[in-house]
Amino acid sequence: MKSYSEWKAQSETLNLHGQAYINGGFQSAVSGETFPSINPATEQLLVDVASCDEADVNLAVESARQVFRSGVWSEMHPRQRKQIMQKWADLIEQHKDEFALLDTMDMGKSISEMVNIDVPDAIDCIRWTAESIDKVYGEIAPTGEDTLALISHEPVGVVGAITPWNYPLLMVSWKIAPALAAGNSVVLKPSEKSPLSALRLAELATEAGIPDGVLNVLPGFGHTAGKALALHMDVNVLAFTGSTKVAGMLMGYAGESNMKRVWLEAGGKSPNLVFADCADIKSAAAGAASAIFANQGEVCIACSRLYVEKSIKDEFIAELIEAAGRFQPGDPLNPQTTMGPMVDGVQLATVERYIRSAQEEGGNVVMGGLPEYKEGEGFYAKPTIVTDAHNGMTFVKEEIFGPVLAVCEFETEEEAIALANDSQYGLGAAVWTSNLSRAHRVSRKIESGMVWVNTWGEGDSTVPFGGVKASGNGRDKSLHALEKYTDVKNVLIRL
Ligand code: NAD
Repeated sequence: MKSYSEWKAQSETLNLHGQAYINGGFQSAVSGETFPSINPATEQLLVDVASCDEADVNLAVESARQVFRSGVWSEMHPRQRKQIMQKWADLIEQHKDEFALLDTMDMGKSISEMVNIDVPDAIDCIRWTAESIDKVYGEIAPTGEDTLALISHEPVGVVGAITPWNYPLLMVSWKIAPALAAGNSVVLKPSEKSPLSALRLAELATEAGIPDGVLNVLPGFGHTAGKALALHMDVNVLAFTGSTKVAGMLMGYAGESNMKRVWLEAGGKSPNLVFADCADIKSAAAGAASAIFANQGEVCIACSRLYVEKSIKDEFIAELIEAAGRFQPGDPLNPQTTMGPMVDGVQLATVERYIRSAQEEGGNVVMGGLPEYKEGEGFYAKPTIVTDAHNGMTFVKEEIFGPVLAVCEFETEEEAIALANDSQYGLGAAVWTSNLSRAHRVSRKIESGMVWVNTWGEGDSTVPFGGVKASGNGRDKSLHALEKYTDVKNVLIRL
């Protein structure tokens, strides 16, 4: 990997594009309005970004619809679509350091996470999905001898995608790779806090041969561009990743407009259950620390609720504090940095508010604590561990989306399961035990879309990602993602 000084030097020469990308080219917002993109580590302006609204959404959706109807992408031979998307992935790989820098500078994530996780995973997602598209078959239904019923999967048309800022490039890739591979046109609204990598992605899509209008990127705010996209009468499917609050609003917009299908990947408050029979307390503690402090805790699957069996609690907390020491806030451009700043001052204030609330409700801060913000020096929080927590406390119930861990205890397996499920969310969960039967029993009973046993957060393009309850409905990644972006058609022929 490059050195700190090399990353810094490259960051200063980066060519940043803030205009909207519509119909194969950059353009200003129709209104001419812009908003500043700020580097959260320096609080300096990166670039002014087009502030798109309804007028831009109308343009982009019209261009997406026209190209969809033309068939140049939607009816292209799947093998050819695959080849173009593979070329796109190759181009992203050729510019991988640039992508790493874009997200690091735009939202504060450490450059080492970008290099080791976000960029390779985004490339893999595009390659894997593209590779799958000429291997998905339709069905013939068993309707009897005198009819033939053909069940096929067709692209839906225009997909609207709305994404968050915590994994900008990766979350965008999880949405647009399957949507495009299936033959759809896409209008993407990335988060206003991190639009830059998505814009570069669209530029490279054109270079790879994806026809103009197939992928449009509209930077802008949720209540303007996002809402207009969600209300648009000519968008067939809305694919969203973000908070549970906005997810609910999108369902309302769909009902108010054209009943577009809405796929939601929403918030989380994932539990981490550590049993006394876990194989190794040290590695369980290291896993628990990564599960809350990776990416500054700005992770939807962050295990922010830790439940430890009472008999090992004191030993476990000591190991946890030691393991958490690995996460030290610092300049995200330094490859040694394990924790960057929070995305902005709003998120930092949220972290501060929840730490205060934890203290007021009887929590014991054993590591970290309130942020010490200095104006102009970045929005840094401290990795914070609060013991003596229980499910009745506000900071244990609500998603913080920051590096704040609640440590609670349990005595029996039944109690651990009940505490884990006592949440409106159901995204991920981790279980640490060396008892195979317990691992299966607990995994079955936990109400979540994903369970990790003796690990946390691991994934692969082959496995689906998503939640239940207030954490959403759809699944990103794997062949299941394609289901979101296709309609099932039945053609029945009397023979
Ligand atoms: P957010 O809901 O505030 O914003 C997400 C996106 O929605 C942004 O692009 C925003 O501009 C847009 N938006 C906001 N208001 C809108 C409106 N009225 N109409 C249309 N669009 C609107 O979420 P965030 O702060 O960007 O991201 C953090 C949240 O995302 C957390 O809750 C986190 O758990 C969740 N998340 C979930 C997953 C998952 O896979 N389940 C993954 C990553 C993040």
